[in-house]
Amino acid sequence: MNTVQVIPLRAGECFNFAAVTGRGEPWRVKSFPAGFALIVHPQRGPVLFDTGYSSLVRRIMRRWPGVLYGLVTPVRLDERETARAQLARLGWSASDIREIIVSHLHADHVGALRDFPQARFLLDAPAFGELRGLQGVKAVRRAFLPELLPDDFAPRIQPLTFTAAPPGLSPFSEVADVFGDESVLAVRVPGHAPGMVALIARTHPQATWEGDGAGLTVLAADAAWTVRALREGLPVHLLGRLAFWNAAQEARSARQLRDWLTGHPQAQVIVSHDAPEVGRA
Ligand SMILES: [Zn+2]
Repeated sequence: MNTVQVIPLRAGECFNFAAVTGRGEPWRVKSFPAGFALIVHPQRGPVLFDTGYSSLVRRIMRRWPGVLYGLVTPVRLDERETARAQLARLGWSASDIREIIVSHLHADHVGALRDFPQARFLLDAPAFGELRGLQGVKAVRRAFLPELLPDDFAPRIQPLTFTAAPPGLSPFSEVADVFGDESVLAVRVPGHAPGMVALIARTHPQATWEGDGAGLTVLAADAAWTVRALREGLPVHLLGRLAFWNAAQEARSARQLRDWLTGHPQAQVIVSHDAPEVGRA
């Protein structure tokens, strides 16, 4: 079994009312980072988990119907913050990225896919299958901006293959062994968007799926707005739930992830729109 290094990054931020994302929070505008992660695998090299925003998102938001996205979710992005710029500072070029694991197709997660022309896209098939074909306002309503996807997106997809989960992954019955060496497992957490996946990465050689979670890092994507909400099962405001693809699925996915974390209390959690936990892994 291999281990990987996980480096949480962010490319831009969006704004929303705190009360919409967490029940009991004030009606105050709050900034949410558009998080993504660099996973460094000993053989496969640098792999991205999502990409955050890019300047293309901002261009699309200046014209119809993308302007609607910006009205609901205003975006701020510093050019020095794009995935490409940050990777360059870490010593990687865009063409070094051969694989991008896509949690789901919301604009803040796939904003920079076009910046990585050598990459294949690893995702759960329904993530694209349920949205492809949506255009205009219907797409924007799903936080899906089809122009963000490269023209050859479909042929570059490599669907994740799910098989019976090893012991220690319950309540998840199936996982996708992303690199075939149990360094990173993908689990299905659909509902927020179709086909959303979270990752559980082994970041320490002694870490085991059946242990207390020490040496494991969970990249939970948008399974919750904050780490605390995920760990404690805090409910989302009705307005926040309206944005879900499938609210019942979302609740089930969040519960499953929470149950797994309860059994693995030392696992470090990173959700896309909150500061990453530190000091656990
Ligand atoms: Zn999302």
